[in-house]
Amino acid sequence: MAAGGFDHATQAQIFDQIRESIITMDLAGYVTGWNKSAEQLFGYSAAEAVGKHILFLYADPDAEDDSEGIRDAFLGHGGREMEVRRRRKSGEVFWASLQLSLMRDEQGDPCGLIGYLSDITARVEAEKTMRLQSRIFNHSEESILITDASRRILSVNQAFSEITGYSQEEIVGQTPAILRSDRHPAEFYDNIWVHVEQDGGWHGEVWTRRKNGEDFPSWASISLVRNHDGQVSHYFSIFTDMTERKQAEDRIHHLAYYDDLTGLPNRSLLYQLVDQALAEARRNSLHGAILFVDLNRFKPINDTLGHAIGDLLLQQVAGRLRTAVRSADVVARLGGDEFVIALFDITEREHAAVVAQKILAALDPSFWIEENELQMGASIGISAYPRDGFDTEALLRMADIAMYRAKQSGQTGYVFYSHEMNQRTLDRLQIESSLRHGIENDELLLHYQPKVDIASGRIIGVEALVRWHHPTRGMVSPGDFIPIAEESGLVVRLSAWVLEAALRQAHLWYAAGLPVLKVAINLSARDFSPTLATRVAALLTSHGVPPEWIELEITEGMLTHSSEEVIAMMDALTVLGVTLALDDFGTGYSSLSYLKRFPIDTLKIDQSFIRGIPADSDDCAIAGAIISMAKSLGHRVIAEGVETAAQLAYLEGLGCHEIQGYYFSAPVPADKFEAMLREGRTLQMNRSVVG
Ligand code: C2E
Ligand code: MG
Ligand code: MG
Repeated sequence: MAAGGFDHATQAQIFDQIRESIITMDLAGYVTGWNKSAEQLFGYSAAEAVGKHILFLYADPDAEDDSEGIRDAFLGHGGREMEVRRRRKSGEVFWASLQLSLMRDEQGDPCGLIGYLSDITARVEAEKTMRLQSRIFNHSEESILITDASRRILSVNQAFSEITGYSQEEIVGQTPAILRSDRHPAEFYDNIWVHVEQDGGWHGEVWTRRKNGEDFPSWASISLVRNHDGQVSHYFSIFTDMTERKQAEDRIHHLAYYDDLTGLPNRSLLYQLVDQALAEARRNSLHGAILFVDLNRFKPINDTLGHAIGDLLLQQVAGRLRTAVRSADVVARLGGDEFVIALFDITEREHAAVVAQKILAALDPSFWIEENELQMGASIGISAYPRDGFDTEALLRMADIAMYRAKQSGQTGYVFYSHEMNQRTLDRLQIESSLRHGIENDELLLHYQPKVDIASGRIIGVEALVRWHHPTRGMVSPGDFIPIAEESGLVVRLSAWVLEAALRQAHLWYAAGLPVLKVAINLSARDFSPTLATRVAALLTSHGVPPEWIELEITEGMLTHSSEEVIAMMDALTVLGVTLALDDFGTGYSSLSYLKRFPIDTLKIDQSFIRGIPADSDDCAIAGAIISMAKSLGHRVIAEGVETAAQLAYLEGLGCHEIQGYYFSAPVPADKFEAMLREGRTLQMNRSVVG
């Protein structure tokens, strides 16, 4: 010790009173001095320590501060401070700060080393924790933001900058309000802070705004930190960008609640939305309506042109419906060609009619799909609340019932639900199920109505018209069950029965040696499929009926488009030798020039135009136009529903070829018709009876 003036004892006393541990050693590293504090720090008494080489205190065998190195260092520089690991007598390792100085003798030559040590384990551990924390802070994938008690941002991590676009420099000093999105009202944020203050934290989903103005969904957790006195010292927030998760969730949500084809809400979502709207409407006495929209000609188009075209058509329809109504109105697709439009903000029920008209107008222009021009009317049924109640299921059912009523009229239009309709719907369902049995139980029969050539007055054909002898209702007219059979799909079985029965009858007449007689059979749009020609051919063969005995009556509904496929199906039939007649002509949409493309033999002018002849000048004009144009195109023309001599005379004057109607004969059972034939009954005989 360079202790000018102190004696050895005094030196030792001071030495022991110093709070730091002091160890002295000679230049070779052997301990020469050991104070009280060193005893406490290491657990070795001075007696145990003095004389040992300093290495016995080292925690690590190859310590960085090996005595050679130290000595050299000191010989060079004279002092050094470092953090080292040492081992106590107990074996416990601790961190110490070590300051080494060189001791010199009176001559000024180095004579030993003095080391001051203090236990810095707590500090080192704290630093380690801090380092770890800052590593976590900086390398976390989650954004971390720390503010002071007044919510000024103190620090953010790397992830925060990456996610939000704000650098540390830009954001420090701001408040987290800079990250707010317009998607939440101010109360939303106020509420978060209330939770943080009351419960010490909040977590949940929150939209966050990036520096570039874009909002993204995040999952955030905000906590407060209190100091020793219980005062808030900091807030910190950890949040993650949930955009991707949200997108995945959205996709799942979309699959569950939206129709894949059109992107419109599906049945589930519609029910949810209507449920909600009804709950609100009940509380606030609001008005609303459910519009059930069913496309009128979708099925034949889908059946004949194929599903790909059908799908494109539905997408276009969805688009037109969506743009026809306001954005607050819900447009949903239930499936097939059924759409529902829900209006939640009308002031009175009648406003739904205005919307229905808008929808019909939107669907009115032709749809163009892959060169097919398609006409697409719709039938709309409307139910409304509060008038029809507040039950989602019931309102939809009522709108559906009203839609069927609209459909029955055969024309594009809309109908409001009324309570009487319910009864009719029950009837309809009953008819459907009993017709199913009726077909199996042989309750059907055919009546035959002659077709007469005006020029010769002779019967040249006959139309088979189905009758249903219901066990309790009696005779049911086809007008009452054919539409039901068509809607339910039952018509395919019905037609199979009719074809079979009519061909059996045709064979009997043919085999009886009667002159050629065209037996006309009515088909519905659903029968008109690519297999029809094959089925007809098989029936002709199995029943032994020459094809020129058969005519098929189809309606304009089957010709909604001038598609090659429809023409091919018709060609396949005419190639067999059967002829085609277009029934109820004039009620549909087809123009005569458009008919040129179809291999149709005969046009049947619908009875609605015959009824007014000769008094109604419009009917006369229409019948006249149809006849002259049909003739110029090479079609035969027949007038159906002719009831009077005056009608016959007028039609004869227009050059109509044939007539059919009560004037000559109502539809009658097969034997009666055969008697008429054998009798050789003519129009002239009829004239003399009437005249
Ligand atoms: P449609 O094919 O146009 O048949 C003509 C309808 O007019 C028949 O009614 C016939 O009885 C009726 N009628 C005939 N002459 C007169 C007349 O002078 N005055 C009046 N007012 N009516 C007359 P029906 O038999 O009730 O058949 C109605 C409709 O049901 C038919 O119209 C046809 O579309 C359909 N239909 C009838 N039988 C079948 C069938 O076997 N299969 C299919 N798919 N539909 C059928
Ligand atoms: Mg007919
Ligand atoms: Mg007809």
